[in-house]
Amino acid sequence: MKELEADFVIVGAGSAGCVLANRLSADPNKRVILLEAGGRDWNPWIHVPVGYFKTLHNPSTDWCYKTVKDPGLNGRSIDWPRGKTLGGSSAINGLLYVRGQKEDYDHWAQLGNRGWGYDDVLPLFKRSEQHEDGASDYHGAGGGLSVSRIRAKSRIAEAFIAAAEEMGVPRTEDYNGEDQEGVGYFHQTARGGLRCSSARAFLHPVRKRPNLTIITHAHVQSLTFDASDPKRVAGVRYLRDGAPEVAKLALGGEVVLSAGAIGSPQILELSGVGQGDVLAKAGVEVRHELPGVGENLQDHLQIRLVYEVNVQTLNDAINRFAPRMGIGLEYVFFRTGPMSLGASQVAVFAKSMEGLETPDIQFHFQPLSADKPGIEMHPFSGITSSVCQLRPERRGIKHIFTPNAAGRQPLSPN
Ligand SMILES: Cc1cc2nc3c(=O)[nH]c(=O)nc-3n(C[C@H](O)[C@H](O)[C@H](O)COP(=O)(O)OP(=O)(O)OC[C@H]3O[C@@H](n4cnc5c(N)ncnc54)[C@H](O)[C@@H]3O)c2cc1C
Repeated sequence: MKELEADFVIVGAGSAGCVLANRLSADPNKRVILLEAGGRDWNPWIHVPVGYFKTLHNPSTDWCYKTVKDPGLNGRSIDWPRGKTLGGSSAINGLLYVRGQKEDYDHWAQLGNRGWGYDDVLPLFKRSEQHEDGASDYHGAGGGLSVSRIRAKSRIAEAFIAAAEEMGVPRTEDYNGEDQEGVGYFHQTARGGLRCSSARAFLHPVRKRPNLTIITHAHVQSLTFDASDPKRVAGVRYLRDGAPEVAKLALGGEVVLSAGAIGSPQILELSGVGQGDVLAKAGVEVRHELPGVGENLQDHLQIRLVYEVNVQTLNDAINRFAPRMGIGLEYVFFRTGPMSLGASQVAVFAKSMEGLETPDIQFHFQPLSADKPGIEMHPFSGITSSVCQLRPERRGIKHIFTPNAAGRQPLSPN
């Protein structure tokens, strides 16, 4: 069996893993191995902002998870996409650059999470960012992650913004600045009209470092442990194109689990770290009882409201050959227009009732409509305005049910 050795073994080359690979391999004396279950980000649709229509629900770039049938969703099971390629979910996501509210970071810090206050994280956001407007109190200009203003506006989007203003929501040019509340165009993680995934931002610029080894199609099965100290991690076991391999830690080395909100707890549970009864039922020996593993799943479930309107929207352009060609040509020649748009055009961060200190709901406006993202547009002129709760109260769970890493753990949404 092939064995490699490193000071840091990073599991998962997604949003977090690519940054970690960049920062940890900056020291040439440290050897870093980055393991990714998916392949290289060679699918051209990854790089075109609107390409998530092609990469979602595509097993070569998406894990294609589904939730269990949930009573809160009227008994339905819904898709739960997660990226599976270099860049992870940042390679298939909606590109919307949203940092969150400073008050939430400060609340986490107050709960005892030192280092998570807004004043702690703002310098890190700025360090990682390259905003097209340049450096300011809230934005950085020298980082790897390119952030740009959107390159496609529309009359119907302006009308939506005006309607929100009429309802009392202030217009904002920057919901990541002083105050999140407001209505305005999204900022996108894009550079020159192309997606700026975490891989493009942080991994590709350093991929030739001699101390960094990137291994794709490496599906991590479990952690390995020190024979003389059964709670000390010694490395990871993975299947590469189906063949077993091991990445071992050098003395004092560390494994960093960055396999995402679904992948990381699965690896922990498969390694015997988790709730005793869950592991026993799945046939995995308990190595370390840790009740929080696989619990507290949170996502921003959106209710998508579709409206037929009496002006033309992108549905009309995309459903007809000549305008569709025009959109394609505009993108090819200028990198502008609808193909340069991420998942949504306009953001609204609002308070659902008087007396709230900060916004608790978010709307996403799209000048198009379809039954679900990634499938064909409706045959009528349509818009979509989806809404989500910013602080969901219910929590979801996902736990393994088999000792086999290929088993899909049932996913109960929040
Ligand atoms: C469809 C979609 C749209 C989204 N839209 C937005 C948006 O517009 N704006 C925004 O801010 N956020 C958005 N998000 C959320 C955001 O992309 C994620 O929160 C973020 O990418 C998570 O980063 P991560 O590093 O935790 O995990 P991921 O980026 O998912 O990375 C995990 C990586 O680990 C790999 N992996 C998993 N298991 C294993 C294993 N056993 N062995 C080896 N590798 C493994 C995966 O293949 C993946 O590459 C969206 C997410 C999705 C899926």
